[in-house]
Amino acid sequence: MEWWVSIPKVELHAHLNGSIRNSTLLELARELGEKGTIVFSDFEHVIRKNDRTLSEVFKLFDLIHVVTTDHKTITRITKEVVEDFAAENVVYLELRTTPKRNDSIGMHKRSYMEAVIDGLKSVSSSDLDINFSCDDLEKFSKYQTKKRIIVRLLLSIDRRESTASAMETVNLALEMKDMGVIGIDLSGNPTVGEWTTFFPALKFAREHGLSVTLHCGEVPNSIEIQAMLDFLPGRIGHACCFQDEEWRKLESYKIPVEICLTSNIRTESISSMDVHHFANLYKENHPIILCTDDSGVFSTNLSNEYALVSSAFGLGKMELFQLARKAVDFIFAGNEVKMELKKVYESAARTLE
Ligand code: 5GP
Repeated sequence: MEWWVSIPKVELHAHLNGSIRNSTLLELARELGEKGTIVFSDFEHVIRKNDRTLSEVFKLFDLIHVVTTDHKTITRITKEVVEDFAAENVVYLELRTTPKRNDSIGMHKRSYMEAVIDGLKSVSSSDLDINFSCDDLEKFSKYQTKKRIIVRLLLSIDRRESTASAMETVNLALEMKDMGVIGIDLSGNPTVGEWTTFFPALKFAREHGLSVTLHCGEVPNSIEIQAMLDFLPGRIGHACCFQDEEWRKLESYKIPVEICLTSNIRTESISSMDVHHFANLYKENHPIILCTDDSGVFSTNLSNEYALVSSAFGLGKMELFQLARKAVDFIFAGNEVKMELKKVYESAARTLE
């Protein structure tokens, strides 16, 4: 097994519908093609394409949502995505997804999330144990012989949504707090929507104990980036198009950054690895976490992101292990989960010595 695969890892930026296996996506599309709902060959062509600009990625998501947005499929893909992360030794996963409505099949935001939770419930098997609800960690700690993964959920607000719709998602997250929902994400096409539309819902979320992470600086937009940083989110994702003043704010506020290398390069948000901001942030000892973003869409996985850092920035095994371990400090779950994960890293460190 490659070394990157064997170390315990923490994934904090993974979108459910971006992390679907290609094989599953093609199988689902073929079924809809046979029913005449979509033209399979058009779909296949888009899925198999490797490089996409950021705006093409959002068109792809609209296509993916056509084949995935029913309860049964959401349950299936949730199970598979968690199994895939666990298979490469991700020990803690914050999985984010946008609760959706589809009136034609009786889906509303809550039933969408219940389908996600059904997926989590179906993960446990003879060799894998999952903890996803906030109250059964003690029982979980006892299964030392199986592979184990702790999963928490973030509900995403899509930038196409209105303030009322964003508020609906936040209220749903609050209702589902005892089912493993711990935070809110703002994502979706960064050229759509205004920060002021989402701000009331995000503020309300934080005031009511939910953690907040924001997709920030995927496109140049100084006013929005600065407003987002001044909001003091718990973390931000990407930070690709920052100006000097924004870097200064980020560093003085010490906001942790979810770094998605493959995604940034594939979407051309960053032109090449040698100019990626990972290098500076790492050198400055700024809090960073390596993440996949959309492992299915970008054909990557978290182990691969660690391997990339090693080859592109020359980090050795010990430095990579410390990077993985440090991510525990930036998770949104509480102290009990942090302590559990620290034990996992302590025991892994002993095998490295
Ligand atoms: P879902 O929320 O449907 O499970 O995951 C797919 C959704 O996540 C996309 O429709 C989009 O709103 C969001 N998303 C996935 N990847 C990215 C990304 O790289 N940037 C942004 N801004 N949003 C993303």
